[in-house]
Amino acid sequence: MKQITEFPNIPLGILPTPLYRLENLSRELGKNIYIKRDDMTGVGLGGNKVRKLEFLLAEARAQGADVVLTAGGPQSNHAMLTAACAARLGMESILVLKKRGTLTGGNLILDGIFGASVRMVDTDSYEEVYAEMERLMAQLRSQGRTPYAIPVGGSVPVGCLGYVNCAREIANQAEELGVHFDAIVSAVGSGGTYAGLTLGAKLFLPGARSVGVGVCDDPFAEISLGLMQETARLLDCGVQPEAGDIHIHYHIGPGYAMPSSEGCAAVRRLARAEGILADPVYTGKALAGFFELMGQGAFDQDNDILFVHTGGAGALFAVEMPAEA
Ligand SMILES: *Cc1c(COP(=O)(O)O)cnc(C)c1O
Repeated sequence: MKQITEFPNIPLGILPTPLYRLENLSRELGKNIYIKRDDMTGVGLGGNKVRKLEFLLAEARAQGADVVLTAGGPQSNHAMLTAACAARLGMESILVLKKRGTLTGGNLILDGIFGASVRMVDTDSYEEVYAEMERLMAQLRSQGRTPYAIPVGGSVPVGCLGYVNCAREIANQAEELGVHFDAIVSAVGSGGTYAGLTLGAKLFLPGARSVGVGVCDDPFAEISLGLMQETARLLDCGVQPEAGDIHIHYHIGPGYAMPSSEGCAAVRRLARAEGILADPVYTGKALAGFFELMGQGAFDQDNDILFVHTGGAGALFAVEMPAEA
């Protein structure tokens, strides 16, 4: 197996992020519920994309890139963090965003503060967004620039390395705390975080089941398995990812980036029990899915469960949460 340290990485985050037991939620649920605070990765408003960008932007720099392009929805946390990290490395960033849903506020404000150029493509399909990215890249090359493109969510094998590494970080922290996680739960949006964590769990957290909560209707069982296999090859790690490693539950609500009442209730519950902000697009829905699974008995055999908080606070200032029932 290759060491993850053999892959180019630019330290951008403040790592390790905290991992600790949620006292009130544990009492309420009758289990030991732990949280991994990847909403505190130390760039912008924090979030999971920083770990991916450490590897992706290292690759960009190795290729001599001076401008980074990425794509996403109008409130993309990934695009905002790409802008923040690129700025820090002295690279220009161009965010090609799919025009849908809320168009102002939240992460769009932050994109501007971080100095990104934002291009809105008025479409519902990523094909058109990627076509616009290609067009911009050709234009930049003709001007003598060196562009580097990151697909939606940074969910390519090099990005997944960030979450293989996170699983190792979790294993070290679990050892220090003397806990053995039975399950780890995370949100799934483009699949890279879950693929990295699930491969990492197979390598470093034996006995821990990796449970993903899908927040949009892509076929994540296949997508994650594909990413796990490619990442395992990249790492030459000798483990064979299998369909049985993957446990995907969906909590989409009315649609991607549209709040669900259960997701909003979960945001309020975590805030009031623990003083921690989840968001209505990813982590609130992931928590709602976790509570649903728990209600169905899916964690009955488990004692120690880790929720990986992947960030997303920017959406709280852009996505209207319906009033409390
Ligand atoms: C992108 C994102 C996710 C999902 O991660 P993927 O690697 O895209 O599946 C989860 N939570 C937040 C806050 C995100 O921004």
